[in-house]
Amino acid sequence: MPSVSDFQSTYLFDPHLADVRSNLTGGRMVVLSSEAMRSLQEGLYKKFSTGASVIILEMGVSYGSMLFNEIEKQSKATPESEAVSLRLLTQNLFKEGFGKIAFTGDLESGQALQVLVTNCAFCTKSVSENKCNFLRGVIISMTTRLFSKQFKSNVVCSISQSAEHICKIELVAVKQI
Ligand SMILES: [Zn+2]
Repeated sequence: MPSVSDFQSTYLFDPHLADVRSNLTGGRMVVLSSEAMRSLQEGLYKKFSTGASVIILEMGVSYGSMLFNEIEKQSKATPESEAVSLRLLTQNLFKEGFGKIAFTGDLESGQALQVLVTNCAFCTKSVSENKCNFLRGVIISMTTRLFSKQFKSNVVCSISQSAEHICKIELVAVKQI
């Protein structure tokens, strides 16, 4: 599990230029609060109704693909198993504050995958509010690239006994690509 110092080394900050960069990609970042992300999503839902979920999902797919490329570049020297790549990807999302993400199922073949997101950055404490489409897109993108399979996904939110909000994303492989 990543530590506080891992988080501190995730970002590079130049206070003279007001420039925040990712230590993973070197690319410049704009740090948005999860409230700001929710507000952006709400704006899209107002404008595009149910079509907004497709737009948000696609944004997540693009981000997941970018993240996958970076991890792939970094681990090129040593061939990694699918399970190790998944761990690197989820650790990155962890450090970016998406929530605690844990994959279960067959992590080598991509069968019967489930993703538990505890303390999801996009969802509120309300079970009825599931706003995970961006994260769902990121995860679909990663698993599609990693296992060369297309996945259908479903999200169910619940509150754990310790009052933590948990989003469960179920992934079903529908076709090899
Ligand atoms: Zn969620």
